[in-house]
Amino acid sequence: MRIVLLGPPGAGKGTQAAELAARFGVADISTGEIFRAHVAEGTPLGRAAREYMDRGDLVPDRVVIAMVMARLAEPDCETGFVLDGFPRTVAQAEALDQRLAALGTPLDAALAFEITEGELLQRLVGRAAQLHRSDDGEQTIRHRLEVFAIKTRPLVDYYRQRGLLVPVDAIGGVDEVTGRILDGLATLGASRS
Ligand code: AMP
Repeated sequence: MRIVLLGPPGAGKGTQAAELAARFGVADISTGEIFRAHVAEGTPLGRAAREYMDRGDLVPDRVVIAMVMARLAEPDCETGFVLDGFPRTVAQAEALDQRLAALGTPLDAALAFEITEGELLQRLVGRAAQLHRSDDGEQTIRHRLEVFAIKTRPLVDYYRQRGLLVPVDAIGGVDEVTGRILDGLATLGASRS
């Protein structure tokens, strides 16, 4: 099972990625988590990424793509993966497609988390209070939502055109949303057979 999760920050991608990776026995890869670990350890990658993250901007494609390609070459990705937070630009999606085509292991689905802006702001402000993430201040949150709308939302069409899109209503309890995802994946499988 190889899937990517698209959606604005705060839509619940991380929670569902963990759930799906455990259920399908595949690697759970969150680019945001990887970057935060590098920042915490003060590695060169962390130092390169930090200023972008703190502003709520995307880390440059070249840096992110190199990191994800190296991660996908690790053995735990052989059974598949759930990618949470990648791709976030068309260039990233194309790089992923090229790699997977070369390996003969194409994507199975792209889940697009759909949620209203009001619900999002409420969740992100709650998360900021809980986790003290340096990119969870209100101004930065608004900027991250704008960056999502401009750079990442076009991927919804990108994957729809490729017959891989599974829209997911992301408002509701964790189990409820997981149920919708599993139904959506089953429908996509059925519609392709
Ligand atoms: P996340 O935890 O997925 O919201 O990611 C936190 C931050 O890490 C983002 O606001 C970006 O600065 C950076 N980041 C994570 N994934 C990517 C990506 N695919 N492309 C560019 N920047 C990313």
